[in-house]
Amino acid sequence: MQYPSLENMMRSLIAAPSISSVSPQWDQSNAEVIELLAAWCEEAGFAVEVLDVPGCPGKYNLVASLGSGPDGLVLSGHTDTVPYDDGKWSSDPFRLQERDNRWFGLGTADMKGFFAVVLEAIRDIDLTKLKHPLILLATADEESSMCGAKSILQAQRKLGRHAVIGEPTNLKPIRMHKGIAMEAIRLTGQSGHSSNPALGNNAMEGMHKVMAELLAWRADLQKRYQNPLFEVQTPTVNLGHIHGGDNPNRICGHCELHFDIRPLPGMHLDELRNELDQRLAATLADSKLKLQRVSLFDGIPAMETPAAAEIVKVAEALTGFQADAVAFGTEGPYLNALGMETIILGPGSIDQAHQPDEYIGMGQLQPAMQIIRDLVKRFCL
Ligand SMILES: [Zn+2]
Repeated sequence: MQYPSLENMMRSLIAAPSISSVSPQWDQSNAEVIELLAAWCEEAGFAVEVLDVPGCPGKYNLVASLGSGPDGLVLSGHTDTVPYDDGKWSSDPFRLQERDNRWFGLGTADMKGFFAVVLEAIRDIDLTKLKHPLILLATADEESSMCGAKSILQAQRKLGRHAVIGEPTNLKPIRMHKGIAMEAIRLTGQSGHSSNPALGNNAMEGMHKVMAELLAWRADLQKRYQNPLFEVQTPTVNLGHIHGGDNPNRICGHCELHFDIRPLPGMHLDELRNELDQRLAATLADSKLKLQRVSLFDGIPAMETPAAAEIVKVAEALTGFQADAVAFGTEGPYLNALGMETIILGPGSIDQAHQPDEYIGMGQLQPAMQIIRDLVKRFCL
């Protein structure tokens, strides 16, 4: 194939900025990365579609397909990176640098590098011989709104049966992760002079009850749900931010608390929010305080692909590792909701992701390519 060498693909991908962020001053289009991938995939013989992401101007998904049908293998990754800490990098984050048998650059491990690895891995496979489809999926905004993967789900775009997301896992297969939701509780009471409590309604005292109820709910959830595959085997709830009132001698009229929930697979975000709403409404029923719960973002569902899924079994055999659970969220739950069976498996380490001097160990490149070739042979030939 005519497309560039692994190193040159890696260099071009890293040089094409594609930061996604909920802060508008950081957020960038991913068009440049999508254009590179589209050109290389076309040269490799794929039918390439570049899809607008509705509601996210300047953001695109790419679906590159060889063949079609209900079966086959989807190799998926996100095209965006997180923002970088200016001044904390030892070299330009957008210039691929080789040192100590490592490739440094923003997105080397997490995870633009994966696309270069995939295209290099399949270079010598005779793709005209595929019996089942091979699909490359490149998404937008995984690091921020997940709008890319969500729009694929919303469009009910059927892609294939077995999926691998190449997030950095040190080449160990992952089939489970927790979800995350971040919620705000806003209590509005009535401020007034502190000398006479009857003049107001103290929102901070109401929040005291809310916090007690949240901790009781957490204990209850931790009794109901456990999963020994996770390092932290129970769901968690963390109280992370609180602000209320202004003066010691004024009744607190408004108080706001932010917390996160990290559910295990099998716990659904909407059900948890409903349960929480009912408990808090009951807690504050007699208080006359106004209670508002606001989701700070849509949340990411927990993911679980069955241990018996074919992709899990094959990945375990190829890597020699039993499929495990991780603490970070991925696009996996959205792919699974589309009827795929998804694992997370890729070169590089999550420890280097979202850090200055992000790198991918060059020693993982050849083993990653071998795994990809074996997966293609197993699921597409
Ligand atoms: Zn990632």
